[in-house]
Amino acid sequence: LSLRSLTGLHLCDVRITKDELACLLHNSFALEQLKLKRCLKIISLKISRMMQRLSYLEVFECNRLQAIESDAQHLSSFTFVGHHHVRISLGQALQLKRLDIECRAAFCYARAELPSSAPNLETLFVHSRREMVSIPMMPSKFSLLKHLSVDLVAGKFPRTYDYCSVISFFDASPSLETFYLNVSWTSLQQPSIFADDPSDLRQMPEHRHNKLKRVTIVGFSSAKSLVELACHILVNTTSLEYITLDTTEGHCLSRCSVNKFGECFPIGRDIILESRKALLAIRTYIEGAVPSKVKLTVVEPCSRCHVV
Ligand SMILES: [Zn+2]
Repeated sequence: LSLRSLTGLHLCDVRITKDELACLLHNSFALEQLKLKRCLKIISLKISRMMQRLSYLEVFECNRLQAIESDAQHLSSFTFVGHHHVRISLGQALQLKRLDIECRAAFCYARAELPSSAPNLETLFVHSRREMVSIPMMPSKFSLLKHLSVDLVAGKFPRTYDYCSVISFFDASPSLETFYLNVSWTSLQQPSIFADDPSDLRQMPEHRHNKLKRVTIVGFSSAKSLVELACHILVNTTSLEYITLDTTEGHCLSRCSVNKFGECFPIGRDIILESRKALLAIRTYIEGAVPSKVKLTVVEPCSRCHVV
């Protein structure tokens, strides 16, 4: 079997071992795309520097995988979806422009490890169900990062998890233009701003963000550090044009006013109740801080379908 001209390899539910895969890849130097989906016998994946043409790598729910080591120099897009934390080493992936990562502690990994191995990222999607520590400020940069999307949805986060640690990413990314954050469900577990003395609202150190134009926060609640994050963005982002605070779980496109069923996508009672507190927090702490050139959009539960 000659693999020299093979440009794409997609293995789905294949019981291939790491050694068999290594052997296959060793002979596939023309490979441009590699997708591995639910290959449950693979415990590690090594991609050598010899795979010069590999530009697209996708690893999806290969759930016994413990480590990915890539020296593919021309990798431009990488997607990793897994349940557990996996050691990922990307060498010097200077061509990597887009990364989608979903696993435990992905957010912390992205901030701590990626600037050194993938400094030229332009688009980063992070999905995490569990983060044990907030992200520290650090000097490393994503000089070209334009789009950052973070999903911290329905997972386990300590009650002390600080959403303001996202500022570490803003500070590292001078080219950032759009920021999307989804904290549906998880932000409900965080202490509400109404549980504390309002004078305790933290003033973050000043960081100027000069390119960020569009910010969306879905699952916006009255969680104190989320309100502080929104205030920080409004005060420090001179380039801001739009900010959307969605106090539901998203689903804007499935509203009764636009879908064919005439009914909104249902949302939980907890969300509807918390939404009222979120709206009060927006009125109390945020509306007054919105500069006149910034358009604030607040998404509320539907007054017809989302009633308690
Ligand atoms: Zn409705």
